[in-house]
Amino acid sequence: MSNTKEIIGQGSAARSGKTGAVVLAGGQGKRMQSSVQKQYMLLGGRPLITYALEAFEQSAVDEIVLVTGAGEEDYARQELVEAYGYTKVVSVVAGGRERYHSVYEGLKALKDCDYVLIHDGARPLVTGEIIARAMEGAAEYGACVVGMPVKDTIKVADAACYAKDTPDRTCLWQIQTPQAFSYELVRRCYDRIMAEEALQAGVTDDAMVVESQSDCKVKLIPGSYENLKVTTPEDLVIAEALLAARRAGSRQQEAKR
Ligand code: C5P
Repeated sequence: MSNTKEIIGQGSAARSGKTGAVVLAGGQGKRMQSSVQKQYMLLGGRPLITYALEAFEQSAVDEIVLVTGAGEEDYARQELVEAYGYTKVVSVVAGGRERYHSVYEGLKALKDCDYVLIHDGARPLVTGEIIARAMEGAAEYGACVVGMPVKDTIKVADAACYAKDTPDRTCLWQIQTPQAFSYELVRRCYDRIMAEEALQAGVTDDAMVVESQSDCKVKLIPGSYENLKVTTPEDLVIAEALLAARRAGSRQQEAKR
């Protein structure tokens, strides 16, 4: 993807300062219909959350805060951080009721960062390239989110489930994570919504918080169609297949050397 290279190239020169990552694993994963929380379900023989942690561990981010469900911190510290040897994880903190509560706990646990990447731990297929692009985007734009143009036609439904509107597909993106920001900007915006409950209504991602609480425009940069969020059981099957294809691809590369 040529524009990816351009973004990385420009940003490498511009980026300096400390970058933290908040990796979220504090959800209940109710849509997975499983007794094991989705972040701890096995994917290719490893807990799902370890894929995102490994991608950030191997990236240029300086430190990682892992956000878990309340009461799961010790388990995560021992069975994930220590067992897999993630040296960049500086703290494991309990999240809250909604995703934005968990993000806020993660933001507060980061120390003196200039930039922060916020990532759904339920997206195991995030790559080093996507993380690098998000880091460069944060430095260049102050606020950016990765996503991809939608492939399907999207309808707006009315309350009785009849089609009400069909937005122009060429302007629609499906938004993923990481979402990357100047730390000072996103922290200020989160401080404001957390201080006033009315501002929290309908918040589903971090970009929304910055869009509503600041004048900073949020840049959309390319993620990947593979960077899916494991939400329902069929997503796990797709993620397994994509990871198997990646493993086969790296074996072929090795064999060619
Ligand atoms: O619920 P949703 O699919 O939007 O969750 C996205 C990510 O946010 C998941 O990685 C989930 O573990 C995390 N999350 C969280 N705390 C919550 C809800 C979700 O850390 N209260």
